[in-house]
Order: sequence, then C-alpha cells, then structure tokens
Amino acid sequence: MLIDLHTHSNCSDGTDSPAELIRHARDASLDVLALTDHDTSDGWDEARRAAAAQELQLVPGMEISCLHARAGVHLLAYYLDPDYPPLAAELDKIRAGRINRLPAMLAGLREAGIAITQADVDGVSTEASSPGRPHVADALVKLGVVRNREEAFDRYLGWGRPGYVSHYATELAEMLTLVRQAGGVSVVAHPWGRGSRRVLTAGVLADLAAIGLTGIEVDHLDHDAAARAQLTEIGSELGLVATGGSDYHGTGKLDHPLGGETTDLEQFERLQAAVP
Ligand code: AMP
Ligand code: ZN
Ligand code: FE
Ligand code: FE
Repeated sequence: MLIDLHTHSNCSDGTDSPAELIRHARDASLDVLALTDHDTSDGWDEARRAAAAQELQLVPGMEISCLHARAGVHLLAYYLDPDYPPLAAELDKIRAGRINRLPAMLAGLREAGIAITQADVDGVSTEASSPGRPHVADALVKLGVVRNREEAFDRYLGWGRPGYVSHYATELAEMLTLVRQAGGVSVVAHPWGRGSRRVLTAGVLADLAAIGLTGIEVDHLDHDAAARAQLTEIGSELGLVATGGSDYHGTGKLDHPLGGETTDLEQFERLQAAVP
C-alpha cells in the first residue's frame, strides 16, 4: 500500500489540475492520496471524480495556515467539512488575507526595480482560489527575472526579501478546535521544517496533543534523519500518529515527487480511526 498524505493542485500553488494530480498518482502506483491544498477545498470534487474512475482512494484534506507564538505553522486537516460555518468563515479570512497582501508584495518588488503588476500574477494563477508567493514567483519567471521558484524565493520572496509580506493566519489552538468541530482530524505539517522548529518543541507538541492534535508529519523532505528519529520518539510517547507525505507541487517544487514520502498503513488506519 502506497499512501501519500500531502499534495497540492493548482487550486492553490501546485501546477497539476486535481484530475492531472490523480492521474500522476496512479502513474506513481499510489493507492491512497490526500489532496491538501493551502486553505481551500476547491479541488475536492474534481479529484473525487477522477479518483473514483481510477480506483484510487482520495482523502479530502487541506493544509491550513496557522500561527503559534507568532511563527507560521502549517496544519494538515483531513475529512473535515469545509462548509461548517465557523471554519468556512475562517478559511475565507485566510484566503482574503492572501489576496489582500499582493499589492504590498508587488510594491516591494517594484521598489527593487522589477516592473511587475497584478495582471502578471493573475496570468499565472487562473485556477487558484488560494494564491500564494509561488504564483508571484511564477510571474517573475515569466517576466524573465528569475529562472525558477527556488531562485524567486531566494532573491525576492523569502523572509526579509523585498517582496516578502506575511498574510493572516489562524491561531493554531483555535484551528485545532475548528477542525475537530468540523468532523476532521489534524496533523501538524513538517513541524521541524523552516520556521516552525523553534516554536514546536516537544513540550508544545504535548500541549497540542492535549487539545486535539492527532498526528505529526514525520516523513517530510524538510526533516533530516535525526529530526525524523526524534519526532518519531516524541510522537510515540504522546500517542500521536506519525504520517508522511511528499508535499508534491507538480513542477512548482523540485525534488518532491509523488509518493517520495509515504505513510505506513497502520498509521493511516489510526488516523482514520481518530475521525470523530
Ligand atoms: P505562502 O503560502 O504564499 O506564504 O507561500 C509559501 C509556500 O511557498 C509554501 O507552502 C511552499 O509551497 C512554497 N515555497 C516555499 N519556499 C519555496 C521555495 N524555495 N521554492 C518553491 N516553493 C517554495
Ligand atoms: Zn505550497
Ligand atoms: Fe507546508
Ligand atoms: Fe504543502
């Protein structure tokens, strides 16, 4: 059983449509795939239809932008009802924050001497209900300013760079509650990746487990072997499920192939059993 619980489509910052993503998942011999776009469930219907035709099990999911101790934390949520009104309202607020920060990002880039406009970003994010920095990166590639997203983040869009502007995100504890109320389960994404390692200590993970966190994403490319070993130990002490996922973004992120990181069947079954 090949199970990949972290992927993106062009409804957020991936480059495959949901149907293309499902086709690529079959090509990669996956049995179970979670679609986890940033802050949107807009790809679910198309992915469900494509998965049903391919005999692939689709897990409806989302990677939600949260904050803990003022640091950005990504929360993977599965099987949640995105129409549960308090959750839907919060997701609307996050997506609005993503859209509303674009003028400030573009102003920063123009100050750095790049002639970029909203139309350039719109031209590369036509399917995205949840636009992000990767779309600005794609616009910079199209303008010939950089070669790829990686270079765009390094030079212009990473923290402290001229085009960097943060966006609204929900307090993590609040989102854990909303996900549970919406009938879903929560797994903290790449906890010891960029940004969140400083704040997501073993003690904090224990606090989060006590207020409804179900799992931690141990197997992710942002984690080296030592981080994976430590997170596995912390997770097992806390009774948390250990998941893995590729964080596939199509051609948008290099070296993140579908199924490159996977979740053990036993852990997947524990995750499903935790659905309220
Ligand atoms: P945003 O959500 O708009 O703040 O953008 C963050 C997203 O950009 C992350 O979730 C990744 O998908 C993507 N990202 C971050 N760093 C890089 C990078 N160096 N190259 C390509 N994509 C990146
Ligand atoms: Zn992304
Ligand atoms: Fe993430
Ligand atoms: Fe992701």
